[in-house]
Amino acid sequence: MIPFSPPRIDQKTIDEVIDTLKSGWITTGPKTKRLEKELAAYCGAPAVLCVNSATAGLEVMLRWFGVGPGDEVIVPAYTYAASANVVVHCGARPVFVDVGDDFNISLQAVAAAITPRTKAVMPVDIGGWPCDYDAINDLVRENAYRFEAGTDEQKQLGRILVLADSAHSVGARYKGRRTGSLCDVAVFSFHAVKNLTTAEGGAVALNLPAPFSNEDLYKLLCVKTLHGQSKDALAKIQKGNWKYDIVEAGYKCNMTDIAAAMGLVELARYDSDTLVRRRYIVEAYASALAKYDWAELPLFDRDGRTSSFHLFALRVRGVSEEQRDAILQKIFDRDVSVNVHFIPVPRMSFYRSLGYDADDYPTTMDNFSREISLPVFYDITDEQIATVVEAVVASVEEVRGRS
Ligand SMILES: *Cc1c(COP(=O)(O)O)cnc(C)c1O
Repeated sequence: MIPFSPPRIDQKTIDEVIDTLKSGWITTGPKTKRLEKELAAYCGAPAVLCVNSATAGLEVMLRWFGVGPGDEVIVPAYTYAASANVVVHCGARPVFVDVGDDFNISLQAVAAAITPRTKAVMPVDIGGWPCDYDAINDLVRENAYRFEAGTDEQKQLGRILVLADSAHSVGARYKGRRTGSLCDVAVFSFHAVKNLTTAEGGAVALNLPAPFSNEDLYKLLCVKTLHGQSKDALAKIQKGNWKYDIVEAGYKCNMTDIAAAMGLVELARYDSDTLVRRRYIVEAYASALAKYDWAELPLFDRDGRTSSFHLFALRVRGVSEEQRDAILQKIFDRDVSVNVHFIPVPRMSFYRSLGYDADDYPTTMDNFSREISLPVFYDITDEQIATVVEAVVASVEEVRGRS
């Protein structure tokens, strides 16, 4: 069976994790701090905070901005549920909007969804394809006059917060800059299936405009993500430094140094190796599938944007959802693992129970109903790539008929 996206674990990763275990310091410490600095330098963000998941990072930032009951956060209908769940955790209402042909949030739909209750918008870089950040940043500025600030942070920003779910897009580029430096805040995921993994983990890239100090906010968030404790564990074990205070009822979502050790190895070879390899794989699929009329290929390089090649989101032209499901089954029967990104969030039973209806998002439904994600992982061989293509072509033609 060809797997979908196993993590890349080699001797380097193992050695770095073992080094951490032997160092005597396994939770947040020197390696997490180093990973934060290296990520900030890599993506061009003034400050980066590592956490134990992207979900935790998104939620902490919504709470920092004072998002709560009565507030609205605009989220694409086409994303993983975590993007919307965090809004629900805060007691606010996710306002789903449709996406465009490129899978990413529709700017017209965002513009139409803005109300005086809108506190944040959450663009998601689906498959690693960056959203149109210039347009999103312009849109929130143009609508600043309608923004009703409640908290001090909201007054300081004076407009809707752009909080990107960049779970897929570490290293993606937009007009010469990387995600993490394109809007107020971007949150990366280092979950096991993502491009750059720490098993579980995430990072919050801070890029807020003046009068905010991203450095001060970073320090505040270190406290917020560690019980609201005034000193971290490493500082507390320094000789005689035992006293601490709890300044608020904080959260507990810090990254461990064991996780950061994996991240340091991954980041050091990310541009020179990981992204090169991922580009090779997606280009191999694209060139093998381009000759089929039914194959609608995803975007990787266009209009000054370059993907991080997280997913190969193929769409099959002219099939129903039932036919797509039948194609998926036939691909699996050929021992190839595929996936669908994503089942629209408003279609999930929890969100349906809140009254959302996926049929209100026609492009989301169209993308979803025809989508098949092909395996993309570092160690996939040319032979396996050929097997995947054969399985896809044969399965599509069996279900759809030859064209
Ligand atoms: C994986 C993923 C998340 C959640 O990331 P975690 O690190 O697992 O919390 C959020 N949004 C999207 C789009 C994702 O794919």
